[in-house]
Amino acid sequence: MPLTAGAGDALDGAPAPDAHGPDGDAPGPDADAPGPDRDAYGPDADALRRQDPEIADILDGEARRQDEDLQLSAAENFTSPAVLAALGSRLANKYAEGYPGRRHHGGCEYADAAERVAVDRARALFGADHANVQAHSGSSAVLAAYAALLRPGDTVLALGLAHGGHLTHGSPANFSGRWFDFVPYGVDAESGLIAYDQVRALARRHRPRAIVCGSISYPRHIDYAEFRDIADETGAALIADAAHPIGLVAGGAAPSPVPYADVVCATTHKVLRGPRGGLVLCGDELAERIDRAVFPFTQSGAHMHTVAAKAVAFGEAAGAEYRRYAHRVVDNARLLAAHLEALGLAVTTGGTDTHLITADPAPLGLDGRTARGRLAAAGMVVETCVLPHGDGRGIRLGTAAVTTQGMGAEEMAEIARLLAGALRTDGGDGTGTAAVRAGVRELTGRFPPYRRG
Ligand SMILES: *Cc1c(COP(=O)(O)O)cnc(C)c1O
Repeated sequence: MPLTAGAGDALDGAPAPDAHGPDGDAPGPDADAPGPDRDAYGPDADALRRQDPEIADILDGEARRQDEDLQLSAAENFTSPAVLAALGSRLANKYAEGYPGRRHHGGCEYADAAERVAVDRARALFGADHANVQAHSGSSAVLAAYAALLRPGDTVLALGLAHGGHLTHGSPANFSGRWFDFVPYGVDAESGLIAYDQVRALARRHRPRAIVCGSISYPRHIDYAEFRDIADETGAALIADAAHPIGLVAGGAAPSPVPYADVVCATTHKVLRGPRGGLVLCGDELAERIDRAVFPFTQSGAHMHTVAAKAVAFGEAAGAEYRRYAHRVVDNARLLAAHLEALGLAVTTGGTDTHLITADPAPLGLDGRTARGRLAAAGMVVETCVLPHGDGRGIRLGTAAVTTQGMGAEEMAEIARLLAGALRTDGGDGTGTAAVRAGVRELTGRFPPYRRG
């Protein structure tokens, strides 16, 4: 029996619930509330503290860190309390190998229902024929796309890692570089934009089986139509690894790869604000191959609590509040990028179209690692990143999390001032760092990511 999708026709047209973000009307979790909600969801912070204070302390520390520090990681966000509730639900106990209606385990009626809703909402949200919501992570989604389309040894064209490609785009330390023959393309030295002429020339020369477009640090929109044209001319499949921008796509704030790519791989935990996990979208022709590539080829039991949480996140992302959120994320990133330039950092491509900014702090006399260290000492979380055509590393930051907290234009200016203050200190315990840290605490204190119960 073929393991075809469970994308239920019967569920087509099911209305998505209203947006339910942490900045919406949802009440925060109330640890003291007895009654049906707590019984249904099971997890109980008091039980954890009674039984295992060591881990309870660690989790409290992490919650405090998320509350008090400024989360400028380009890859992170704050899920809604509803997403967290689904993640902590008793679906975590359920084994469900296979797809809805064709499982290898018994007792899957609710697991099936959750997955059908998740698939249906993902298809509606992205206008895709087919969605696989079981991939455990973004990397698992890419692995599934390769498994569906490639054989070991095939040639694949992807953005080189030194120019912003992901590990799964041909790193020798990753399955991708081990099992496939990756040919890297790059970004233009002057503009920082993808060198589409080079992509076409390399595709003509190497005739790859697949072309991958997508990046961990490219701040601009990708021209999916151009990639489609190159793929068509050279007989390649097109895989869009939209792990970063997919949340903007969901909110109508970035162009969609879905009409152009044969397979779209994504994560659900970045701008999209869902649980940590992967997503694969494709047309009907590839639906069965993709599903078989996820299960049984690369995974077995799906994480059904995560699948349910993905359904919740897709439901939120279909709402008007989320559309406004996605556009505010980009507005905030553009403002922050302009502030960083004014501070003297060299912002890659001169700005951003997305949530993501990369910048070289060299004009301030700092390398990326030193800059990240000074920011961390002041309570600001950013990553280092590659700088195409540069010597050292830069810093990468994003506005998805701070926008979820409700920050806007004024706060972007304040964040820039705090960043500048931290970068100017020596990163020690001097008063400079302490003063910036106090400013960070004051700012985050006004925009708590979760309501306190
Ligand atoms: C984040 C990301 C991934 C990997 O996601 P994980 O869930 O960490 O495995 C893959 N590709 C790109 C382009 C990414 O940005």
